[in-house]
Amino acid sequence: MAETAAASTPTVRTYRFKVRGECYPWLNAAAIEVNQVWNWANETSYKAARPFFGPPSFLSGFDLCNLSSGATEHFEHIGADTIQKVCCEFAIRRRQFQKAKLRWRVSRGSRRSLGWIPFKAASLRRNGHSLRFCGKSFRVFERPRFVEIKRFRDGSFSQDSVGDWWLNLPVEAQAETNPAPKPEVGVDLGLRDTAVTSDGERLEAGRSFRSLEPQISEAQRRGHKRKAKRLHRTAARRRADALHKFSRRLIDRYQFIVVGNVRSLPLIKTRLAKAVLDTGWGILRTQLQYKGQQAGRRVLVVDEWNTSRACSACRALTGPAGVNGLRVRLWVCAACGIAQDRDVNAAKNILAAGRCAPSVSGNEPSRRSARRSRAPRPREAGNTRSDAAA
Ligand SMILES: [Zn+2]
Repeated sequence: MAETAAASTPTVRTYRFKVRGECYPWLNAAAIEVNQVWNWANETSYKAARPFFGPPSFLSGFDLCNLSSGATEHFEHIGADTIQKVCCEFAIRRRQFQKAKLRWRVSRGSRRSLGWIPFKAASLRRNGHSLRFCGKSFRVFERPRFVEIKRFRDGSFSQDSVGDWWLNLPVEAQAETNPAPKPEVGVDLGLRDTAVTSDGERLEAGRSFRSLEPQISEAQRRGHKRKAKRLHRTAARRRADALHKFSRRLIDRYQFIVVGNVRSLPLIKTRLAKAVLDTGWGILRTQLQYKGQQAGRRVLVVDEWNTSRACSACRALTGPAGVNGLRVRLWVCAACGIAQDRDVNAAKNILAAGRCAPSVSGNEPSRRSARRSRAPRPREAGNTRSDAAA
């Protein structure tokens, strides 16, 4: 086979289809049964993990599946495959979060969990244009797109906060990986512009929530809960759309992408909270990482400490600092006299930090946390406290 520049890597893409409304009551009832299975697994795993002596040993997904055999006859809507998928998912999540017990899945009330019904690929049958699952026929929107799918993996039905149900079908695909035309870029994440690249490209803060805020507050004042939820969903979709388009542009254009590790969590309790939550920095970083992996790019997250203070030309710390420095968008370096744009300068510094980063994983502690933690110094033999006192 001739070697070409383009290669392809196997990936999984999840297709989402909205389920038609007439199926909602059945799905809601099935979701309650899924919650019962989850809570049973939670309780069983917790009780079994307390031996009389020795460390706790938790049940694996395999054990829970074995214990749940024969449970199908007690449920009206879900089958053995769904029960097994719930048990395995529970075991995975319990290990992931390293807890003895997870939260209960609540079926009613204000704190209820959003509906979720997993299934194995073999139990979802295609019957012409409709679907058959657990003896119930389903219809989904966007039929032509649905008919195109030949094979899919184990998927799920899931409910969003508005109450609509979606069918999620993971499909194996081949992603083309072409070498990018440009070598590298740094990305600075901020509030005025959600992201600015070292080449000067900007993703303007979409204000996806702010533009809908008057409508949302009016709906909430009038007690139209469902309308408010719909508007929140619209804002989330607009935000995701803008971020998807921007991350795709970067991935298509650059081979090496460096992003700052700015975290929104500490800022959420300040007066910037709404603006911070509206940016979706974490979503953008995640998108860059998984899209980069599919396209054969190198994506690196670096500590962005001092990146807006340092001059990208001479490295002197002459830039604006602190909360009062936030409004300074343009400044002239006192050391070298070069005029700098705040965000582009920061993006250039982030790119420089990525060039000299010691590893590609980005797992080592940041400089800030390393400074805070004080590792005990190695002590020489005989140099004990009593010796020092004597
Ligand atoms: Zn300078």
